[in-house]
Amino acid sequence: MLNKKSVDDINVKGQRVLVRCDFNVPLQEGNITDENRLVAALPTIQKLIADGGKVILCSHLGKPKGEAIPTLSLEPVAVRLSELLNREVKFAADAEVVGTNAKAAVAAMHDGDVILLENTRYRAEETKNGDAFSKDLASLCDVFVNDAFGTAHRAHCSNVGVTQFVDTAVVGYLMQKEIDFLGNAVENPARPFVAILGGAKVSSKIPVIENLLDKVDTLIIGGAMSFTFMQAQGLKVGNSLVEADYCQYALDMVEKAKTKGVDLLLPVDSVIADAFSNDANLGIAGENEDIPDGWFGLDIGPKSAELFVAAVKSAKTVVWNGPMGCFEMSNFAAGTKAVAEALADSDAVTIIGGGDSAAAVNQMGFGDKMTHISTGGGASLEFLEGKELPGVAAANDK
Ligand code: AMP
Repeated sequence: MLNKKSVDDINVKGQRVLVRCDFNVPLQEGNITDENRLVAALPTIQKLIADGGKVILCSHLGKPKGEAIPTLSLEPVAVRLSELLNREVKFAADAEVVGTNAKAAVAAMHDGDVILLENTRYRAEETKNGDAFSKDLASLCDVFVNDAFGTAHRAHCSNVGVTQFVDTAVVGYLMQKEIDFLGNAVENPARPFVAILGGAKVSSKIPVIENLLDKVDTLIIGGAMSFTFMQAQGLKVGNSLVEADYCQYALDMVEKAKTKGVDLLLPVDSVIADAFSNDANLGIAGENEDIPDGWFGLDIGPKSAELFVAAVKSAKTVVWNGPMGCFEMSNFAAGTKAVAEALADSDAVTIIGGGDSAAAVNQMGFGDKMTHISTGGGASLEFLEGKELPGVAAANDK
């Protein structure tokens, strides 16, 4: 059980509070095209303002790799945050991130003021977790708050290194929610506990499968991943995406599930197409039916959707990572939609891993019906693998 100190456990009145946020938003010609990450950061920032802290925000944006690339400046974020918070967020333009400008801006702060530092990855040491930049960041603050789950699986100066040089390091509300759901709910779930895995590759989900087989009552595997299992069991899968090197692994997992008493559900039918295209001719490959050469399995079929939905209906906790098919093309989105709808209608604790499944759920309009949608892709996968995340571990225990 992870039990970290949070912003609710500290008194920041008059203190300089450095908050590591995830403001890595998509930008087009200086315009923010998706501000979900900014909105998600507001509760922690508002709490610290209300408590009379001097709020110093920092984040990375893109991959400037140690260079002060103007198109990757966080200035547009400061402008938009000012609007969202309805108060000035001063931008501390500074190619060194913690240089003369940033230090002067912090020194001039009053209680409740907010400033945003420049892109932490303007400094090459950031991603190397070096001491010099970590100390620079720590010198600006009395208290450190980490609310950036998206980078929690990496040990960088602005989320891990800095904590070595401050007395108090706590998590923000967003991070707390990720810990509560992806960490603790998965460790100690209400049962039956159903995990749904999909997406492109078995190879990238091996540690997740291994970890979840020790915890779940039912493991559902859809998406292209399932074709490796089908080929391993002797079916022909045509031109579907398969990782032939992982067939033996797939068979081992089927055995492991049996040994552990886990119900492993694979698709019993597939939507197939004669090209990897939304305009292709479509068909269905039924249970134990080969997929013809030249055809691609691009979604789970209707019977599989029914089977998976029924499993979701009986669950008390559901974790989902990876789409059931090529949901980006409308003809192959039905399986992913059926699963998303089942989760939306369920009273279970529903947890969506970041990345494609989060995008699918939001795009299909079910976002507000889920208990938790993770804000981190790689980080949520590593949490589900049972790994310790450096960004979480670095916060003070309660
Ligand atoms: P991942 O990043 O491994 O979760 O994979 C997500 C991607 O898997 C999405 O872009 C889907 O389009 C893709 N995907 C899911 N099912 C299939 C499939 N049957 N064939 C090819 N790609 C798929």
